[in-house]
Amino acid sequence: MPETMTGYRIDLHVHTAFGSACAELHDPDSLPETMENKGLHGLVITEHNTQWPRIMIDALNRRLPKGRRIYSGVEISTSRCHAVVIGLDTTQGFHPGMTPEALCRMADANRAAAILVHPYQTSGDFDPDTERLPGYHAVEVASTMTRGEHLIRTLALCMAVHAAPVAGSDAHCSVNLGRAFTCFPKLPGNERELALMIRKGLGVPMTQDPDGDHIIQC
Ligand SMILES: [Zn+2]
Ligand SMILES: [Zn+2]
Repeated sequence: MPETMTGYRIDLHVHTAFGSACAELHDPDSLPETMENKGLHGLVITEHNTQWPRIMIDALNRRLPKGRRIYSGVEISTSRCHAVVIGLDTTQGFHPGMTPEALCRMADANRAAAILVHPYQTSGDFDPDTERLPGYHAVEVASTMTRGEHLIRTLALCMAVHAAPVAGSDAHCSVNLGRAFTCFPKLPGNERELALMIRKGLGVPMTQDPDGDHIIQC
């Protein structure tokens, strides 16, 4: 059954043509309109290994109506797997190929949220079931990459490591924006507040399906 739920819907994992070298990319200028169409209150831009300059995030936010917000984050390709980090003023010290342990330690020192994403779809020999995982604050249990059997395995992994479950689309094109999102009790005023809410486990992971929205039961 589709779920109805009040709260603030935030897509925690979005790529655009500005910083991600992939096919079918969003024009970032289209984000405010797509958010409106998809019923999203917020989204986090998480390009690969680069964080948007604050001035660009501020410019996009000026175009949004009250009650909607765009946040900056980054997706780092660590030596073992990908991780989204939200809540950093600067990505200084974060780089592709860094160890997951260093990423989690530095995110923690910055009071940012370190989120393990698509753990069962990484290149190389990374096996989350046998590998000792460092202290991620959250695990992305649903996205356009993490569906079906992968979703179930990732949810089980999230519970096994006692991390907070979250969801984000990992969208690289408008049509996928909001396919997975996290519902929060309030709209965070900035990235730091969003990171704190993620770390406290205040988000409810959800998917947007043709028959409505569904809560991912933990
Ligand atoms: Zn990735
Ligand atoms: Zn991604």
